[in-house]
Amino acid sequence: MRIHCPLCGERDRREFYVKGAAMERPAGNAGLDDWHAYVHLRENPAGVLAELWYHEMGCGSWLSVTRDTATHEVLKVELASALGLGGAA
Ligand SMILES: [Zn+2]
Repeated sequence: MRIHCPLCGERDRREFYVKGAAMERPAGNAGLDDWHAYVHLRENPAGVLAELWYHEMGCGSWLSVTRDTATHEVLKVELASALGLGGAA
């Protein structure tokens, strides 16, 4: 699988670390149910899913990668920071 990093260009997926589903982090004062859902609950579709990927062996950017999990076709790649998604582990 190849991922087109917006800063580095097309790269092999082995240059990246995948964190999981790209989800918006709850506010600091959010309730336990919101934090439980953010930390523990994930969709696992056989289909289109947006995930956070870290370009570990490249520019060090967090990316939102939208791909089809059944075919591994990458549909869209965006900088996570541009979407307001935090990726830091
Ligand atoms: Zn990069």
